Amino acid sequence: MAKLSVKDVDLKDKRVLMRVDFNVSLDKTTGEITDDTRIRAALPTIKYILDKGASLILMSHLGRPKGKVVPQLKMDKVATRLSELLGRKVKKLNACIGEEVKKEVDKLKPGEVILLENTRFYKEETENDPEFAKQLASLGDIFVNDAFGTAHRAHASTVGVASYLPAVAGLLMAKELEILESILTHPDQPFIAILGGAKVSDKIGVLKNLLDKCQKILIGGAMAYTFLRALGVPTGKSLVEEDKINEAKGVMDDAKGKNCEILLPVDHVVAPEAKSGVEVKVVGQSDIPSDWMALDIGPETINQFNQAIDGARTVFWNGPLGYFEIDEFSKGTREVARKLAGVRATVVVGGGDSIAALKKENLVDKMTHVSTGGGASLEFLEGKELPGVAVLKDK
Ligand code: ADP
Ligand code: MG
Repeated sequence: MAKLSVKDVDLKDKRVLMRVDFNVSLDKTTGEITDDTRIRAALPTIKYILDKGASLILMSHLGRPKGKVVPQLKMDKVATRLSELLGRKVKKLNACIGEEVKKEVDKLKPGEVILLENTRFYKEETENDPEFAKQLASLGDIFVNDAFGTAHRAHASTVGVASYLPAVAGLLMAKELEILESILTHPDQPFIAILGGAKVSDKIGVLKNLLDKCQKILIGGAMAYTFLRALGVPTGKSLVEEDKINEAKGVMDDAKGKNCEILLPVDHVVAPEAKSGVEVKVVGQSDIPSDWMALDIGPETINQFNQAIDGARTVFWNGPLGYFEIDEFSKGTREVARKLAGVRATVVVGGGDSIAALKKENLVDKMTHVSTGGGASLEFLEGKELPGVAVLKDK
């Protein structure tokens, strides 16, 4: 069901408590922000709310401090970057709750912005502790959740606060939900999915849910080798999840009954190990040498995948098709990304590594939608209700 968004509520003179996803990547040595995409993604909602005459109290987690104060994970640099991007002062506080925070929030005037400290400095955050949630909620008149990337986690700042405040979606959250909902419920046909990446276990839920909805599912990446093994194809030293072979077989059997065609690699780029500078060759589907590993889809597979993409009106892509971090094994991912950039179809991409591959090729803007939530978008497409979405008010 559609959820209320900031556009459906009166914001004038309100104090808006908003959960954002400012979990940016930081340089390991300097601690500088290396990618501010997530801060930029929240700007439209932030501006919208301020323009409506409200004040804003922002909160986010950053990294995995595990309930303790970790100086490198303080939100100061995020506040500075946000302030630059927004062209307004952003007051960064050193806590999320308590007297000091209350005092600062009481002074807030319409148009002013506060950023609380890293929510995960409190162990109560991931425990979804009701008292912590209540204290957070006491800072605002209304709760806005714009953090789609953490909507699959039931934490105090994503779920708990909604017990105490009216809760609505931010613009980014609303857009994510609208697009993912539309490809799940009424995709333009033919709808195909391209799934790759490291682990079958991460993607099997989506795969199962999409069998009913997609005409074709293209499987590449390391997960393809568990499927090939299920068909009795020798896979050498390629990554195979032995305990998932049966499940993979089951999925392929189900697909037949559901008229969903599953495409697996018909050739492979193989090497003795996953290292740059090693000997590399292309082999046919059943010709992976016993002491070599398959690290990318081969040229004939790229052709077949490209043809399938050409015939599609809707495409969902999650997971690189090879070990793309190493040049020698990046071609399959790169070619498919380029193909997706040129096709006349709705193209939705999710997954941190898939997005990294798109960024490397400068193709992010060529996609219809690049989801800001890897895990959240997968759980959504598995058909699960995300806890952070469930607590938002229905339209
Ligand atoms: P995403 O973040 O887009 O959801 P995943 O995290 O599931 O993607 O998987 C990405 C990882 O899978 C990358 O590190 C990539 O190197 C790895 N990978 C893809 N294909 C292979 C392969 N054939 N062999 C080993 N690793 C692979
Ligand atoms: Mg990943």
